[in-house]
Amino acid sequence: MSMIIYLDGKYVPEEQAVVSVFDHGLLYGDGVFEGIRAYNNRVFKLTEHLERLYESAHTLTLEIPISIEEMQEAVLETLRRNNLRDAYIRLVVTRGKGDLGLDPGKCPRATVFCIAASIQLYPDELYEQGLEMVTVATRRNLAEACNPRVKSLNYLNNIYAKIEANLAGVPEAIMLNQEGYVAEASGDNLFLVKKGRLITPPIHVGLLEGVTRNAVMDVARDKGIVVEEKVFTRHDVYNADECFLTGTAAELIPCVRVDGRPIGTGKPGEVFWSLLKDFRELTKVDGPVIFE
Ligand code: PMP
Repeated sequence: MSMIIYLDGKYVPEEQAVVSVFDHGLLYGDGVFEGIRAYNNRVFKLTEHLERLYESAHTLTLEIPISIEEMQEAVLETLRRNNLRDAYIRLVVTRGKGDLGLDPGKCPRATVFCIAASIQLYPDELYEQGLEMVTVATRRNLAEACNPRVKSLNYLNNIYAKIEANLAGVPEAIMLNQEGYVAEASGDNLFLVKKGRLITPPIHVGLLEGVTRNAVMDVARDKGIVVEEKVFTRHDVYNADECFLTGTAAELIPCVRVDGRPIGTGKPGEVFWSLLKDFRELTKVDGPVIFE
């Protein structure tokens, strides 16, 4: 059965959900997006995702043609029309149709679409065994050039990192900033556990402020774990007790080997397991209801 897609105010079958070849989202990666999840008939952290979307667009002077309330309703209605209570949602706003030049001023109206698909869960063994990462040569974008805080459609920086991980035969990459401090993975934020404290790089290092990152910090504080946002290097990663990644699709994923060095015991750690458990509890109760 074909999916129903929200596109510019209409709900259409996927075959009819088409955008112009002159759309600057396609021609230049000019646009913004969100990856969101629904769990248990609720859209997890929907407000946080929508705020980030509108802030990213604002920085790009990309005017979203509908209000944040209308956008929330579009997300919920897309889920309803596809009869989904657990899903992965992709919300995209592109610069819209223009000419072949760069000028966003020649694109009169942004294109908005929302896709809701049933979620492909990561295999349990990934959580049980943990994954391996390498540090890649591609540095995370300089904030002054292409700010990683903006979740734009321009993902080549991250794709370069992913290519390097693929070539190294591992599933994820650690990206450093221009000064050599650890920023994040190619599509996830990074956390360390050292002597019972949770450590993650601050936003100014140059990274996406992940919704999952913020939720995990809240969950940790609620458990009485000290959370520190501070700069660190690869040395700190190698010598951490635990390391894990966070992201909407991955939730929390343990990392047990970096650049050939085992992290801690070389197995997913206790703090990881306890935060994953509490995070999954939170996903069951947070966010607006889809079907009343
Ligand atoms: N960093 C990058 C570069 C990302 O693309 C993402 C989202 N896939 C994340 C971090 C995690 O963000 P969130 O928890 O909001 O999904």
